[in-house]
Amino acid sequence: MDLHIVGGEPTEAERAAVDELLGAPESGWDGGEREADRDGRSARGGHAARGRRDLLLPALHAVQDRIGWISRGALNHICRRLTVPPAEAWGVLTFYHLFATEPRPPVVAHVCDDIACRARGAEGLCHRLEQTLGPAGASLAGGRSTWVRSPCLGQCERAPAVMVVRAGEVPSAEVLAPVADTAEIAAALAGHPRGEPTGSRLEAVRRSVPQAGSLGLQLLARAGTVDPESLDAYRAAGGYRALARAFELGPAGVVAEVIAAKLVGRGGAAFPTGRKWEAVAKANVHPRYLIVNADESEPGTFKDRVLLEEDPFAILEAMAIAAFATGCERGFIYLRGEYPLAHERLSRAIAAARAAGLLGADVAGAGFAFDLEIRRGAGAYICGEETALFNSIEGKRGEPRSKPPFPTQAGLFGKPTVVNNVETLANVPGILLAGGAAWAGIGTEGSSGTKLFCVSGHVEKPGLYELPFGATLGELIELAGGVAAGRALKAVLLGGAAGAFVGPEALGVPLTFEGARAAGATLGSGVVLVYDETADLADALVRIAEFFRHESCGQCVPCRVGTMRQLELLERLRHGRQLGSVGEELALLRELGQAMRDASICGLGQTASSAIESAMARLDPFQLGGSA
Ligand code: SF4
Repeated sequence: MDLHIVGGEPTEAERAAVDELLGAPESGWDGGEREADRDGRSARGGHAARGRRDLLLPALHAVQDRIGWISRGALNHICRRLTVPPAEAWGVLTFYHLFATEPRPPVVAHVCDDIACRARGAEGLCHRLEQTLGPAGASLAGGRSTWVRSPCLGQCERAPAVMVVRAGEVPSAEVLAPVADTAEIAAALAGHPRGEPTGSRLEAVRRSVPQAGSLGLQLLARAGTVDPESLDAYRAAGGYRALARAFELGPAGVVAEVIAAKLVGRGGAAFPTGRKWEAVAKANVHPRYLIVNADESEPGTFKDRVLLEEDPFAILEAMAIAAFATGCERGFIYLRGEYPLAHERLSRAIAAARAAGLLGADVAGAGFAFDLEIRRGAGAYICGEETALFNSIEGKRGEPRSKPPFPTQAGLFGKPTVVNNVETLANVPGILLAGGAAWAGIGTEGSSGTKLFCVSGHVEKPGLYELPFGATLGELIELAGGVAAGRALKAVLLGGAAGAFVGPEALGVPLTFEGARAAGATLGSGVVLVYDETADLADALVRIAEFFRHESCGQCVPCRVGTMRQLELLERLRHGRQLGSVGEELALLRELGQAMRDASICGLGQTASSAIESAMARLDPFQLGGSA
């Protein structure tokens, strides 16, 4: 393919970053020196180069990590190397907020100002940064560093959080959380490492998992007690016994156990996992793919991050079991770009598992082949939607596809694909060891097993909690130490930005899929964001509206326009500048929500008004009195 590259050549550093990932170019047709007698007559290798389009996202990461931003010249080089039309590559590049398309300093502090961090003072932190360092985006230290605001970083239990990213030959990223003052951010930008927290490993993990070390945990049993970087430690704690059990049961037997367990997806959609596996196992097509959706970007959600950081081998074992059961040869872990520690630990765990023969051509000597790789997201909430995730891996814009066909029929690269959330898979080893029927006895009739809850906001002990389905919202908040500083409870956001607000009257609601539904809410991804009596809910709603406006992929009109109009309307209400009467504004808000629910093609648009409408109906966040 002859590409229409317009201006800009890569620098040596940009070229090196890309070539390190893709290997040296072989001809003038894929970015090398053009030699007339070799390349002058016809193109060679174009088909093979186009077949590597899925490396577009990793190539963009390579340049961003090395340089700190992606120039036109670097993009041109990537386009030549992968034979991707520049206009398409530009569309992909600008889809992700972690990529910069204009010159930017190599050291950047991403300061979260999303709902969970806001509840713990993020907006004040940003204002103090503006006073001490200058406005967001200001060039600091002679162009060496800057700070920017960021959507949720998934560190909500330690809010407010900041991620400092350093580009260079050895790129790095570190998370500062919680951040007490601006001096910590300034020190990190200047390259001064933060002192390690004192105390034992168990104490350190308890800052995120207050129950760590307690008896009776299923999914968090190893958090803080088993070294997440040691395969031997994982095995000594019972790891890989479930894979051996899977081999005894055979693929159909494994699927039958998962169906008997009544396991449903924990990413928000609650689809029966065993049925999904069964559909792919029966597909008469190869190759098949297994994807772990670790792109949890729902504001207030951090459960998958903790599992991947503290128990990475359990996820790899569960993936091997799932691949064995469904006949998938290749797997991907699609990991949030904002999770540097999870990336590090997963990478080490994959290398250790591969070295031990637990991934590869003959997994555990059982005669089946399965290997996997990590693909980093780059800051796009919509890529958590499974079909958007396929497009992202394939090197396209992360826009959802219309269904059908469903992923089990035609998913990644058009092949049958299993997509499971991290927490969902984390349940699988326990199911095989306990037996599906026995496991189904935990929890309630309609919601089996245990559930992870991401508790943040105004509670004494924010963190990740594991409870059997059926505990009440009040019991969970009590477990988290109750509302902070003895204040009264104003509201709880259940299920994240796509969830619903409930008031104190909902403390008795059982935390089950059916219980939440009956209360007009949803468990979603397990977010429980607590607001005390002093909270500014109007501010939270405007931030949620901003989030959806920003994250809409723009593909369908009701969502693209509706999220914008919703935000404008809430801003008018906040500032008392209604168009017409308050009643007319509220009617318009409901109409917008209905249009987005009815006519958006994916869950983002369909739920973009859920939390806002629930708050308007139950909590009068704008203090409109009887008008609401
Ligand atoms: Fe994109 Fe929104 Fe349509 Fe989903 S509903 S496809 S996010 S525009």
